[in-house]
Amino acid sequence: MSETHEGLCHICGKYSKLTFEHIPPKQAFNWYRAKIYNGDEALKRSKGAQAKYCNLQQGMGKYSLCQSCNNNTGAWYAQTYCDFAMDVVKSLHKLNQLEHGNVVEFTFKNCPILQVVKQIVAMFCSILPYDEVQRLGFDKLLLEKESNTVNRKLFDLRMYLTPIETGQLMCGPSVVFVKKDESAEAIRVADLGAYPFGFILNLTPETPVKYGGSIMDMFNVKYDEKCDFKLSLVYLERRSVDFPLPLVFKEPID
Ligand SMILES: [Zn+2]
Repeated sequence: MSETHEGLCHICGKYSKLTFEHIPPKQAFNWYRAKIYNGDEALKRSKGAQAKYCNLQQGMGKYSLCQSCNNNTGAWYAQTYCDFAMDVVKSLHKLNQLEHGNVVEFTFKNCPILQVVKQIVAMFCSILPYDEVQRLGFDKLLLEKESNTVNRKLFDLRMYLTPIETGQLMCGPSVVFVKKDESAEAIRVADLGAYPFGFILNLTPETPVKYGGSIMDMFNVKYDEKCDFKLSLVYLERRSVDFPLPLVFKEPID
């Protein structure tokens, strides 16, 4: 049975036939069956209600990009991202089992890190509505291969390490309430668990998220610039393995 997927491409905005984009790229450990809940359904489920999900036999991903954008992001950014993820998994295999809150320092050599962070942005584009992609300037950033222009007032991008069993999570922009002193503040975040990493896109950067570490510095280099750098990542386990929710991690973390 073949199904045609048509709609707006989440990067270039053209109405066209949409192709399946693996999130994260298939070679980056994304070949298992996955269950996808979108943000609203995830929140419903958290309140004990029935929630809809899609079951994906081919790994986690979405029909969200046109052929051209899927091919370009694949060629320009995804391969480097896969190498980067593979390096991290190899290093993790040499360590003892991590515990929630552990921090691991990784050393990278000759890594074109802008390509990695642009692949992370490309993954988020698939789960953001297209008008949000435009508002954030992610369309221009990705369509221009060499661009590293981002507006830091609009978002913060953060990264952490995630366990393999709850590695798969794709949550579009959701409102999450965080406790602050006596009150609660609303933040808008998208959360993407893509073993070995988790990524948080905070769309209300004026209210910082405490989880993970910001990777906004990765936008500071040029497309072909290869960097030597160290990256410290905190390992976070979610409160529920069966039902991971955006920003619902075990406590405490500090
Ligand atoms: Zn496109």
